[in-house]
Amino acid sequence: MPEHYDIIIVGTSFASSFFLLRVLQKADPQSRILVLERGNADSHSWQINNFSNSSTSPSLIKSANGASSWLSHIGWGGNSNSWWGSAPRFMPSDFKLKSQYGVGNDWPISYRELAPYYHEAEQIMQVAGANDASAFPKNKPYAQAAHKLSEPDRLFQSAFPQHFFPQPSARARTATQNRPACCAIGKCHLCPNNAKFSVQNELAFLYEDPRVTLKLQSTANKINFSRGLAESVVYTHNNRNQVVQGDLIILGANALFNPHLLLRSGDHHPMLGKNLTSQVSVKVAVNLDGVDNFQGSTSITGHGYMIYDGPHRSQRAGALIETHNTPTLRTEKGKWRQRLMMNILYEDLPNPRNQIKIASHDPDQISIQYQGHSDYTQKAIDQLPEDLDRILTALPIENYSISPVNPIHTQYHGTTPMGDDPQTSIVDKNLRHHQYDNLFVLGAGAFPSGSPAHPALTISALSLRAADSI
Ligand SMILES: Cc1cc2nc3c(=O)[nH]c(=O)nc-3n(C[C@H](O)[C@H](O)[C@H](O)COP(=O)(O)OP(=O)(O)OC[C@H]3O[C@@H](n4cnc5c(N)ncnc54)[C@H](O)[C@@H]3O)c2cc1C
Repeated sequence: MPEHYDIIIVGTSFASSFFLLRVLQKADPQSRILVLERGNADSHSWQINNFSNSSTSPSLIKSANGASSWLSHIGWGGNSNSWWGSAPRFMPSDFKLKSQYGVGNDWPISYRELAPYYHEAEQIMQVAGANDASAFPKNKPYAQAAHKLSEPDRLFQSAFPQHFFPQPSARARTATQNRPACCAIGKCHLCPNNAKFSVQNELAFLYEDPRVTLKLQSTANKINFSRGLAESVVYTHNNRNQVVQGDLIILGANALFNPHLLLRSGDHHPMLGKNLTSQVSVKVAVNLDGVDNFQGSTSITGHGYMIYDGPHRSQRAGALIETHNTPTLRTEKGKWRQRLMMNILYEDLPNPRNQIKIASHDPDQISIQYQGHSDYTQKAIDQLPEDLDRILTALPIENYSISPVNPIHTQYHGTTPMGDDPQTSIVDKNLRHHQYDNLFVLGAGAFPSGSPAHPALTISALSLRAADSI
């Protein structure tokens, strides 16, 4: 007989761990929860010593046409080990893109419904942010005071007081019980002093709970369905297939691997795996004229909302501007610090031709079919020089240059969208699978449309909400 658990969770990163956190708050002392993790427990010191986030490869997967690469680190804590810790909320309009701007899709939940969970996730991650002003409605304080801005940030803030704020950051401003303050060195994917929130440094206690069994090097391959329920999970450990039964099955393997697992399990919903969408990022290097940079207390200090929301979103993508405080020095004498690096993060629209499939040569592998970003996003990128001419009037500058679009994708979503209609969505507004009542599919796959803002805080808030719905 296969072993039986009350709950089986796949993955150990934001989506799974925030769900597990809430479940453990509610579960009785006899509960048995199994967590399957494909990778190893590569500790922070292992990562630093090996200059790598993961001992399991590959981390970078090329799309089928070879034009783009998709980064995802496998192991205990997933991409919470490699993320940069930028933790803004989405804007209310991100949840209503279709009704407000006639593009993308509306979410089946509103910003207001998610707001209490945003607050809770921010407290758990100990997010540092500004309480006096923000781009999104917020009525409770951040866990930590905002990071110190740089001089260029301060100039932006006085020119655009309604549209420029300190970045909400899970890189500690002040030490927490488990983490020191951010050292602002700008190597955040391998945070040298472990100041950035990760599952390993703040949520390790979940995996020490006697109700939880964590099985490492255990790859979930298939879910067996029976009579409208997810009955068991087949996983590989030490090259052997094992079957385990669960009353509740939770997938938190991200927007690339969740759909792959469902497709391999025989879920043939026409929307499954489709609409793989990624934020598109473009870097701008600004040579300042007489203003020094790099006085801030973390690596990314500012968030500009000057081209994020507004009527333009019916024609072209919105974008979030990040200002970097990581020293990238100029070579001219006396001007070393007169440089500002900005990252412009564009949203994109869902396109069903961009999708996850099972690789034809090996069903264990995913095939990423990605044609590139939409005309909607390209129009916004084409508009960037004009936008910058307006935005950069806030600073004394000599000149600027724009880099080509970054072909490496780190912030992706779609593929298992949430919605009220089972014909057009995979999960309901609580991330419960429409067809299988005891199956939850967590993570950014559930986003019906994206946002220019970073996804991890929203993923975490959605998981807390999903676990509350049980
Ligand atoms: C370099 C980098 C920087 C980033 N910076 C930011 C940022 O600053 N802010 C932000 O909001 N977002 C950022 N992101 C994106 C963010 O990290 C992801 O959106 C987020 O981690 C997704 O969370 P998740 O829990 O859904 O999945 P993941 O973090 O991708 O974790 C998936 C988990 O599932 C496991 N797994 C996968 N397949 C299986 C299987 N078959 N069986 C068992 N286990 C499996 C993995 O090992 C892992 O534990 C960044 C990403 C990268 C790579």
